[in-house]
Amino acid sequence: MNYKLEKPVEAAIGTQQFTMEVVWRNGQFVADEPVSTGGKDLGPDPFTLLLSSLATCTLATLRMYIDRKGWEIPEIRIKANLFQYKKDDKTITTIDRDLRFDPAITDEQMEKLVEIAGNCPISKLLKGEVTERTFIFNEDDTVKKMYYRNDTTTVVWKPSICKHSGRCVTGLPRVFNLQARPWINMQGASDDQIRKQVDACPTGALTWAHNNSTAS
Ligand code: SF4
Repeated sequence: MNYKLEKPVEAAIGTQQFTMEVVWRNGQFVADEPVSTGGKDLGPDPFTLLLSSLATCTLATLRMYIDRKGWEIPEIRIKANLFQYKKDDKTITTIDRDLRFDPAITDEQMEKLVEIAGNCPISKLLKGEVTERTFIFNEDDTVKKMYYRNDTTTVVWKPSICKHSGRCVTGLPRVFNLQARPWINMQGASDDQIRKQVDACPTGALTWAHNNSTAS
């Protein structure tokens, strides 16, 4: 299992309803809620972000296909919106995506491009099986710790906090291997790789320290 994004999306909210700062790999932006739901509308709301994701993925996928075919279609525009209703305690969502090509395209092209749009990566994600997992970072320092060292780095593992997300094991299997003893092999990768993987632990079960500082 490798994460799609090398750097996860990070977001934070303070006490001001509902200004949120979103950090992505090459910058940051503000998200908010509309005034009608108590926000200040300083940035896109979560539904808008979701629809933007689908809209931009559709456009990029169509552009790639059109260019490969060598079709003369200089502009593609899209509008996306959704509606929802409840059925048997489940929320049913329909997303509508309206495409417009300039200049107009043939019926044959239209049919193909609708099919391509329906197979863009975000479409596939939305139509596929999605599982959400939520982890809480735990800073409890009173629990049992185990230490793993190489010449420069000490990795600390707190077994009682580990939620077995599998992130370390799948992200850096040469170092984190549940079948091996010890299960953390500090010779298995560079310091940078180990530290980066430790930093990705979602629960705080793994931390690291330089050997010239005190690992606690
Ligand atoms: S990433 Fe952290 S929580 Fe997940 S299995 Fe490794 S140590 Fe446990």
